[in-house]
Amino acid sequence: MKILVLNSGSSSIKFKLFDNEVVKASGLIEKIGENGSRVELKNTLTGEEFEKKVDIKNHEEGLKITNELFKESGILTDLSELDGCGHRIVHGGKELSEHCLIDDKVLEQIDKVSIFAPLHNPANLAGIKTMIKAAPNVKNVAVFDTAFHSQMPEFASMYALPYEYYEKYNIKKYGFHGTSHAYVSKKAASFLNKDYNSFNAISAHLGNGASVCAIENGKSVDTSMGFTPLEGLIMGTRCGDIDAAILPFIAQTQNLSMQEIDTLVNKKSGVYGICGFNDFRDIENQIEKGDKRAELALNMFCYRLIKYIGSYLAILPRTDALIFTGGIGENGNLVRKLVCEKLSHLGFELDEKLNDERSKKERDISKNSSKIKILVIPTDEELEITKITQKLITK
Ligand code: AMP
Repeated sequence: MKILVLNSGSSSIKFKLFDNEVVKASGLIEKIGENGSRVELKNTLTGEEFEKKVDIKNHEEGLKITNELFKESGILTDLSELDGCGHRIVHGGKELSEHCLIDDKVLEQIDKVSIFAPLHNPANLAGIKTMIKAAPNVKNVAVFDTAFHSQMPEFASMYALPYEYYEKYNIKKYGFHGTSHAYVSKKAASFLNKDYNSFNAISAHLGNGASVCAIENGKSVDTSMGFTPLEGLIMGTRCGDIDAAILPFIAQTQNLSMQEIDTLVNKKSGVYGICGFNDFRDIENQIEKGDKRAELALNMFCYRLIKYIGSYLAILPRTDALIFTGGIGENGNLVRKLVCEKLSHLGFELDEKLNDERSKKERDISKNSSKIKILVIPTDEELEITKITQKLITK
């Protein structure tokens, strides 16, 4: 089954083409509507790379050029040859709580909740509309970052604001990175030969965006991101949890608009706000050079993560595994070491040698005696989207 997965941003579209769950090609349409726009395509089986540097005014043109590259490279004769297309959608809101086939009603709903994810949902929507135009015969599936968390208990997902804000605007915790948490936790259960329906885990997706998820019997029961992907862990440039009263204080004292405050907490904060670097490889290099701010940023990042893991240990009746994933979770042996060392009194025993080994494979990095398994599971959101798309189009 040929499935194209699209992750559409406002000026770029990342895509992957799967044939029976094997990646055939991957690529990127970038700088849409800007100078230097281009499409790159890689045949993942042969390693051949293709590129077109052309003026791309909008998403539609981008996909058209991609289609031409597909043809020229011999990877696909035409987009209409696809069995389905899976779209990553950041926010499903309250109504779209499950992944689904896209029809006019779904398009309308995605548009309606754009207010919750103004940077992402309109771009995701543009990607879907482009695909519908380019290949009207192909079925489209919406896969929501929020769906995995939609069954969180009310007491975990509600904010203690006046109830009418929930009634009027559906303000509650939605959670994100759901496709990743679902994928790695399922992988972890099968890696440990456990039945997913009775598997409990804490999944830490640590990348530029970062979130933790408490999974009980294969379902998300709590997660650190909230109404937007800002809440929770300290991230590359996002502050995560802070006292909400700081925001009106800064707005007043600095004479900032709400828009500027939004930029401040999302783009200028996090470890970047503390030390000026948001890539953990740079932070580690800086620490080696004696940069105290970089050390503080790393310690703050780990401390917040430790607190979240501790709180999820408390709410889960039993924890089978702690899962690390995402760019930092998969590669950052220092973060994993600092976090697991502090958690050793709670049943986590890290095998330092295994932790230091570099690998792209799923692996157990805990000692045999560790009460709770510590796993590194590389995430693959596109593969998860493909699996969901296949399931929904054949239903
Ligand atoms: P992601 O958003 O999941 O692609 O993760 C990107 C982040 O992973 C980068 O910004 C880095 O902070 C982090 N990362 C990548 N490689 C390493 C590494 N070898 N050690 C520590 N962090 C890494």
